[in-house]
Amino acid sequence: MADTVLVLNSGSSSLKYQLMQPDTGISLASGLVERIGEETSTVTLKWGNEETSRDGRIADHEAALRTTFDLFAESGRHLDDLGLVAVGHRVVHGGQALYRPTIVDDAVVTTLKELAALAPLHNPPAVLGIEVARRVLPDLPHIAVFDTAFFHDLPSAAATYAMDRELAQRWDIRRYGFHGTSHQYVSQQAAQFLDAPIESLNQIVLHLGNGASASAIAGGRPVDTSMGFTPMEGLVMGTRSGDIDPGVLIYLWRTAGMSVEEIETMLNRHSGMYGLGGEIDFRVVHERIESGDEAAQLAYEVYIHRLRKYVGAYLAVLGHTDVVTFTAGVGENDARVRRDALTGLAPLGIELDEHLNDSPARGARRISADKSPTTVLVIPTNEELAIAQACLTVV
Ligand code: AMP
Repeated sequence: MADTVLVLNSGSSSLKYQLMQPDTGISLASGLVERIGEETSTVTLKWGNEETSRDGRIADHEAALRTTFDLFAESGRHLDDLGLVAVGHRVVHGGQALYRPTIVDDAVVTTLKELAALAPLHNPPAVLGIEVARRVLPDLPHIAVFDTAFFHDLPSAAATYAMDRELAQRWDIRRYGFHGTSHQYVSQQAAQFLDAPIESLNQIVLHLGNGASASAIAGGRPVDTSMGFTPMEGLVMGTRSGDIDPGVLIYLWRTAGMSVEEIETMLNRHSGMYGLGGEIDFRVVHERIESGDEAAQLAYEVYIHRLRKYVGAYLAVLGHTDVVTFTAGVGENDARVRRDALTGLAPLGIELDEHLNDSPARGARRISADKSPTTVLVIPTNEELAIAQACLTVV
């Protein structure tokens, strides 16, 4: 049996899991436990084409993991027979010190807890997931794979905020970048698709999901990325604002009387597409625009404007780009967003083929015109596979 890695992505009230075979790229099973701790939780398990789901109260993350394994057993699969060699944990923030895939021991857990302040919304649930999984599966190595890893060596010009240098050093303030696992995976896949050595390519990767980020990659190494100290900077996202003048936050605190917590919630959960138009799903956004909804129209225009700005900025950072790649939920599925992001850029060497862009094809594909000097690709991201592969590098 091929080696299998259980990949866990633990949120505050959810646990996403996938059983991946890193060598073959095969996903044996995947699923989600939702609404942990609420009155009714739902566990889903997808095994090949079979899908099972169960509702009931699940008190905490440990119960969530145990229930998932019960569901495996009921469908006739036992963990011991799956060739499990490791558990991979997606961790958003590794701070300055942690960036390589790291085997988790007690000291690493302590360090991760200390990092909570850097990513208060994301890191604590990940640490919880790690602690629970170490209890439930004590005989397997647990490996933390960091969303910040790929961007650890960003050039200092891109990683540094122009602020008081000593203060930044004292508080570890820099641009860390996130979605690194996806940007790295997708840029490698783009090179493979083009049958070109990654060292020979300048790339722009646009990861457009609920969270969204852009990166500029030269020869396989990132030279800039849109997320910074937190995953709030950069592009307009589902519920996050992306770039905003920090003066707005000071004004809201001092003059509008909002607390730090209220401002944080507003920026993370009530901004972006949701804050502007009340909707994060782009399928619905398009429907609303077609029915004359002005708020949805404005949200979409702000989203596209920001995206185009980043594409232009990264073209300038790179000098030229060989390939622009769209990935994640919006990037992989929304032909209108891709068209509106790149339309009119022929003088900069980027020209879409409308027919290829509109095709409902899935999988890695080219969507640029033959004559376009820059190739435009759509490549499905696969963060779980990348995490599983990262785990194998250390076990
Ligand atoms: P992700 O965070 O990568 O899972 O992306 C989720 C987002 O992708 C959703 O909120 C939708 O806005 C978007 N999405 C998913 N499927 C489609 C689709 N067929 N067309 C347009 N947008 C989509």
